[in-house]
Amino acid sequence: MHTKIYSEALYGIEGIPIVIEVNISNGLPKFDVVGLPDQAVSEARERVIAAINNSDRFFPPKRITINLAPANIKKTGSLYDLPFALGILSSSAQIFFEDFISETIILGELALDGSVREVNGIFSMLLNAKESGIKNAIIPFDNLEEANIIEGLKIYPVKSLKEAIDTVEGRKEGIISKGKYNFNNTEEDSIDFSDVKGQEYAKRAAMIAAAGGHNFIMIGSPGCGKTLIAKRMSTILPPLTFEEALETTKIYSSYGMLDKNTPLIKQRPFRIPHHTSSYVSLVGGGRNIKAGEITLAHNGILFLDEFVEFQSSALQTLREPMEEKVVTISRANGSIKFPANFTLIAAMNPCPCGYYGDENNVCRCSEYARKKYIAKLSGPILDRIDISIEVRAVDYKKLISKADGETSKSMRKLVISAREKQIKRFKENGLKIFSNSAMGIKETRKFCSMSMDDKANNLLNMAIEKFSLSARSYDKILKVSRTIADLENEDIIKTEHITEALQYRFNLN
Ligand SMILES: [Zn+2]
Repeated sequence: MHTKIYSEALYGIEGIPIVIEVNISNGLPKFDVVGLPDQAVSEARERVIAAINNSDRFFPPKRITINLAPANIKKTGSLYDLPFALGILSSSAQIFFEDFISETIILGELALDGSVREVNGIFSMLLNAKESGIKNAIIPFDNLEEANIIEGLKIYPVKSLKEAIDTVEGRKEGIISKGKYNFNNTEEDSIDFSDVKGQEYAKRAAMIAAAGGHNFIMIGSPGCGKTLIAKRMSTILPPLTFEEALETTKIYSSYGMLDKNTPLIKQRPFRIPHHTSSYVSLVGGGRNIKAGEITLAHNGILFLDEFVEFQSSALQTLREPMEEKVVTISRANGSIKFPANFTLIAAMNPCPCGYYGDENNVCRCSEYARKKYIAKLSGPILDRIDISIEVRAVDYKKLISKADGETSKSMRKLVISAREKQIKRFKENGLKIFSNSAMGIKETRKFCSMSMDDKANNLLNMAIEKFSLSARSYDKILKVSRTIADLENEDIIKTEHITEALQYRFNLN
C-alpha cells in the first residue's frame, strides 16, 4: 500500500515543501529511504522501529520504500521520524488517515520509547507551509510556542507517536495559532549609554555610526571603554520592525537558538565572536551547512574585539557580505545564500602591548612593532569601515563625576529621526537603500557632493590635499558628513558637518 504525507525541509534558513511517499510491498524485509543521506537513514530506521514497537503497534516485516521529493534538496536531521512512522502504519493498514491530512504537514523526531522530540526550524518551515496553502500542522509539543508566532494555522502539538495516531485518525482537536503575539519592542534595556562617562567623543561617533548604519572601529588601550561602548550600540539603534523580527527569528529558529518561552526575537542581535573563531564559525559553512556569526548578527551588530587578532583569511571573507549584505556558501550541488546585513563594530589596541599613547602607562613596543601591528588593519575590510576613532583612557575626575552622561533614550531618538530622513530621501528617489552607509558612488555624488554648500566643498578639497586622501576616504567623509547633517535635520551639508566628519578618521601612521 501507498501513503503520501506532506512535510517541510530547511534550505538555508527558509522552509521548502517536501512530499514523503511510503510504499510497502511483499518481499524480503527492507527499509530503504530515497533522498536522504545514508547515515541519517540508518539512524531514523532504528528510532522508527523502536518507537512503533513501543506504541502498541508493530513494525511490518516487509519491503518498505520511502521517497522524499524533490530529490535535489539535501534533507538533514531527524525531523522526518514521525511522518515515516505514521506513513508505515498507514501503508500497513494499522491506522487510517482522516481527509484533513491532505492539507497537513507532519514534522517531529521520535525517541525510542515513542515520545516526540522538538525539531529546529519549525518557524521557517511552518511559515513556508502556510504560504504554500497548507492549513494544519502536526508538530512536537515542545515547538508549540514557536509555531504560535505564525497566524492562522491549525496546530496539533503531540507528545508521542500514540497522540499523533489519535490526531491523524481525527480524535484530537487542533489549536489555531495566534500570530503577532506579544510584539512590543519597548522593553527596557539593562544597559545604558549614560553609564559611559567622559567618553563624549566616542559616544558621539557611536551615535553617528548608529544613525547612518556606518561600520565603526575604536582604537584604544585596554580598559578605556571600547567594549562598554560597543555593547551599548544596540540600545540606540532603531527598534526592530515586525518584518525584521520575523526574519531574525527565522535564522535563530533554523539553528534551535530561540528562547522556548519567548520565541519571537524583538531585540537587534549583538554577536561577539572570539578572535580565535574559525572561518566557518564566523562566515558559515561546514558539512551540514550552518550559518555563521555574520548571519546570526543579521539586522544587528557584529562586534569584533581585538580585531587584528582574527585570522586574516576570515576577515578577508567578510568583504563580500559587507558589500552584498548576504553571504553565499558554495557546495557540491549549488550554493545557499544566508542574510548577513550587520553593522560591524571593531575594537583593537593601538600597539601589541596596548599602551601606546596612554597617559598612565608606558608603551614597551618598538616603533617598527607598532607600525607592523597597525598595518594589519589596512586592506579591503578597512575600506568598508566609515568611522575610525581613537578612544583615550578617561581621566579619573571625569570617571567619578556624578553628572550623568547622555542617555540611550535621547540618543536613540536622534538616531531614529536621522534614519527616517534617510529612508524618506532614498524612497523619494526610487532607491532600495535604507541608510547612508549603503550609498554607492552614484548616490554619494547625488546626495552628498551635490547637496553641499560652497564653503564645505572648499574645506573638503583642502583636506584632501593636505592629508592626501584617497578617493575612498573622500567618499567615506562625504557619507559620514551626510549622516551628521541628517542628525541635525539639515538638507545641505555645511562646513561644520565636514569638520566633524574629518575627526572620525584615525591616522594610521
Ligand atoms: Zn605598546
